[in-house]
Amino acid sequence: MRIHHLNCISSCPLGGALMDGHTRGLRGRLTCHCVLVECADQLVLIDTGYGLRDVENPPSRISRFFLTLLAPDFREELTAIRQIERLGFDARDVRHIVLTHLDFDHAGGLDDFPHARVHMMSAERDDARAQRSLLDRMRYRPQQWSTSRNWHGYSQAVGDKWYGFECVRGLAGVPPEILLIPLPGHTLGHAGVAVERTAGYWHLQTGDAYFYHGEMDLEHPHCTPGLRFYQWMMEKDRSARLRNQARLRELKQTHGNAVKVYSSHDVLEFENISRHPLDEPAHA
Ligand SMILES: [Zn+2]
Repeated sequence: MRIHHLNCISSCPLGGALMDGHTRGLRGRLTCHCVLVECADQLVLIDTGYGLRDVENPPSRISRFFLTLLAPDFREELTAIRQIERLGFDARDVRHIVLTHLDFDHAGGLDDFPHARVHMMSAERDDARAQRSLLDRMRYRPQQWSTSRNWHGYSQAVGDKWYGFECVRGLAGVPPEILLIPLPGHTLGHAGVAVERTAGYWHLQTGDAYFYHGEMDLEHPHCTPGLRFYQWMMEKDRSARLRNQARLRELKQTHGNAVKVYSSHDVLEFENISRHPLDEPAHA
């Protein structure tokens, strides 16, 4: 499987180095790491970042609170659809989208792929739709859900074992090399997505299960104060979140040669794996 790494619009969070660990000045830099998988006869997109409609009119789609806090660098050429076209594909080639979760910075591009079937944990869909709290209404944006008729949910209670994780499963109509791995905590139906790139060698997009590469450090796990605060503010189940971070570290320790782990928002991880600068569109 050929894998393309796309940064579908950077965020520039208040806090500078307190957030990303290195940027001088008021605002730091975070990626929105999406993954395009080239299968034999179709494309599968993992997460969608911000989409065309977000770029066109941010306040109509994203809450004022998160626009102020994160100040996304809205550039049309960095939306998933424009990067996919630039790679020589058609948006219609994207038959499936797999979501780690439904936060506004992962689901904004859904509208650009009305023909794709969208896969996620049922718990994520149900909790997002319930709009239970003010924070839920700011993070889960029905304005971004014009394709909800194509959504397909999966139970958290069924599935197989995979490298120490339970209830791991394939997805309807998606090649068997792509698996959904429940990693609840950040949200109730949060999941990672594993792709078997070559036989026995996997990429695991862990979404927002962790935010900073230092959190996967085996000896001294650490995080910037800003991202620690952000994760605390956004978490829906603290003990599950911390347990899953520990399991990911364990996975790295025991099977680091077989599974490459990365998160949605870490710049260093993105640039290492994509081999292109953060703010440039992917190229063939
Ligand atoms: Zn996120």
